[in-house]
Amino acid sequence: MKNSHMIITIDGPAGVGKSTLAGRLAESFKIAYLDTGAMYRAVGWMLGNEDPDSDQNKLGKILEGLIFGLHGSGWNSRVTLNKNILGDEIRTEEAGMRASDFARLKIVREYLTKSQQNIGQETSLVAEGRDMGSVVFINAHYKFFLDASARVRAERRQAQLLRMRKQADYSLILEQIIKRDEQDRNRAIAPLKPAPDAIVIDTGPMNPDQVFEQMTKHIENSPIRSKSSYK
Ligand code: C5P
Repeated sequence: MKNSHMIITIDGPAGVGKSTLAGRLAESFKIAYLDTGAMYRAVGWMLGNEDPDSDQNKLGKILEGLIFGLHGSGWNSRVTLNKNILGDEIRTEEAGMRASDFARLKIVREYLTKSQQNIGQETSLVAEGRDMGSVVFINAHYKFFLDASARVRAERRQAQLLRMRKQADYSLILEQIIKRDEQDRNRAIAPLKPAPDAIVIDTGPMNPDQVFEQMTKHIENSPIRSKSSYK
């Protein structure tokens, strides 16, 4: 590892491969990775049938009961909610859209930003999501933004589902990806966009090995920025 305490951020749209790359980098640097999408998904899941625009105090009270943590490291890093590892029920596209519906709320973003920063103060991280480099860890040592066209991402997602022998309707996947991206890019608070100092990588023409290589080369070849705080 290059530094005793290191934060690497990876942001980008749905299905661009952030989790795979975050897991790989975390494994290679022997640190943990933080899947912040899982935290937003868990919030969407726990708030269940609440209307995102209903009484914000009530939503705030529910949020206070959600204590997030991190278990394991490298590939095996898992987000915990009230000490339980989050399960696969939050991984559906419906849960992703529900997460996005709640992710535009100030009260939700402030709560999760604080939780993520607290985790980052305690441990070195590869933090992946939509606003890691632009808002949550603005002083991160290394920042990446992965991008690819919606078409390419839908093709990858379809191939992944087919490998898992699950149903995979390409046009439905494409439609869902476009809709969620649009909502994430156009929200008023912490919209999906690269931090000004992020390295933007178009992963469209690349395979995961090539993206990984580009990221590690950048980390190895850049002088470490000394930062005292990640908030
Ligand atoms: O990354 P994932 O697809 O699991 O994220 C689910 C949703 O959570 C995103 O579409 C986005 O609305 C929200 N999210 C966010 N900020 C993050 C991570 C996820 O707004 N840092």
